[in-house]
Amino acid sequence: MSSREIFIKKLKRGDLFDAVVVGGGITGSGILRRLAMSGLNVVLLEQKDFAWGTSSRSGKLVHGGLRYIKQGQLLLTYHAVREREKLLKDYRKLISPLKFAIPLEDNSRAKRMAYRFGLSVYDLFAMKKTADYTPISELISDFKFINDSIFGAYTFFDAVTDDVKLTLQILFEALKYGCLALNYSKVVEINKIHSYYEVVFKDEISGERLSISSRSIVFATGAWIGEFNSSLSIRKLKGSHLVLPFEKMPIRYACAVFHPEDKRPLYIIPWNGFVLFGTTDIDYKENLNSEVKISKEETEYLLEALDYWFPKAKIVNDSVVSTFSGVRGVLNTHKKDPSKETRDYILKVKENMIFIAGGKLTTFDYISRKVSKKIFGLLNKNPVDVGFGKFDDYLKKVTGVVSMFDKLFWSSIEDKRFSEILKNSFVVHLDDLLIRRSRLGLTSPDGGVECLEKKKGLVMSSLGWNVEKYNKELRRYKDVLRYYRLDG
Ligand SMILES: Cc1cc2nc3c(=O)[nH]c(=O)nc-3n(C[C@H](O)[C@H](O)[C@H](O)COP(=O)(O)OP(=O)(O)OC[C@H]3O[C@@H](n4cnc5c(N)ncnc54)[C@H](O)[C@@H]3O)c2cc1C
Repeated sequence: MSSREIFIKKLKRGDLFDAVVVGGGITGSGILRRLAMSGLNVVLLEQKDFAWGTSSRSGKLVHGGLRYIKQGQLLLTYHAVREREKLLKDYRKLISPLKFAIPLEDNSRAKRMAYRFGLSVYDLFAMKKTADYTPISELISDFKFINDSIFGAYTFFDAVTDDVKLTLQILFEALKYGCLALNYSKVVEINKIHSYYEVVFKDEISGERLSISSRSIVFATGAWIGEFNSSLSIRKLKGSHLVLPFEKMPIRYACAVFHPEDKRPLYIIPWNGFVLFGTTDIDYKENLNSEVKISKEETEYLLEALDYWFPKAKIVNDSVVSTFSGVRGVLNTHKKDPSKETRDYILKVKENMIFIAGGKLTTFDYISRKVSKKIFGLLNKNPVDVGFGKFDDYLKKVTGVVSMFDKLFWSSIEDKRFSEILKNSFVVHLDDLLIRRSRLGLTSPDGGVECLEKKKGLVMSSLGWNVEKYNKELRRYKDVLRYYRLDG
């Protein structure tokens, strides 16, 4: 039996839960982990795959957000920097320090003073000094193709992760404390019955409608929050990234540049042996439940900036290995420029239901702590201080889920272990396996299909598929992959 089947069986026992968490992104997983660590009886339901939403499509930065200082959002930056520092300490294997350069086109005293001030505040929040200056003579060797008409760059440190890997790690840590989590389980109805709620969900695999009872509900559904609470004014913003081959864009560390037209900040970062470049930030009006794809205009916008800052790299459509796009829900204050809308989180309470929107990958545990405190209040229980937790290597060995991201995994793993990990890791479709349990979908030109075909027999036997089912899933995967490619 797979972990998913075991969990469905357990849910059918009819327990009364302390809390149901709706949404299996980083926010929902973080909240599940906190509540489970505190000894509550909790379950998480995700309509698609874990991290399928924004939490697999972010810019991968664990950061304070230097630009928020310029916007005057000091508290948001402060909390995010503090969370970054905590994560860097306790989750070293998932989150790494990342040096950034901000190239200077304008060498005026005023500009230099502004950067020095911003970076000093940033470093002050972190209680460490990282800010420095690098002249163009040195910068050229760190960024081979950079526009050499610049003067030099200010440098500082932030951090980088793999958003899916982090989400799965946090989710699996929660499971260690005895809670339950189900992917492909869409919450379709909430009914209040006396002092508890009936949460009705559809098992998207069997088509069965199931219900569970809970004393409280947390809606951590990100951009989908409006479906559960229409009083929240949410603006849906789409952001897209390009994945480039490292050889085409050899960079020693990350670089923050401004788009030549609208002066929005963009990031170019080394990631997983590749280079990520993004993001765009535009209003999104389409269906949230289908895959999101970069538009022609977004691609042109990003390529224009690359051509301006790295003209010698000559990046064109054909250079791009893959792309990914995500939608975030932010508090709508009707700003003309979407990038000026706050990235802070929103928390609303109605009876025993908590609704969360906005926030950042970086601040997932900050939000989780706030929610956990509220839940204990709603349940009339005394909060339990459970500390922060640490990256658990033991967990990696037992479930193996996080190991699937390692480059050597597919070539070096023993068959028996591969099969165990597949059964443990809630893989339902091939995009779960190739886009969110590994990153082959983004980093291989063929999306990892060749790698998969070598393990076809093993995948089929582990997931209980016959040839017909495998072929159907492969067709589905190739269809999904089109959303991650420019030419799809
Ligand atoms: C382009 C872009 C770049 C970003 N870059 C960064 C960055 O570099 N650093 C950073 O800190 N933050 C970044 N962010 C923000 C960060 O990605 C988000 O704040 C974070 O991922 C939100 O996580 P979440 O769990 O709240 O939402 P999601 O990850 O979207 O999770 C919500 C989940 O709820 C599920 N759901 C919806 N309806 C239902 C239902 N009826 N039943 C069950 N489940 C349901 C969805 O399927 C979804 O998986 C970025 C965001 C974007 C869009």
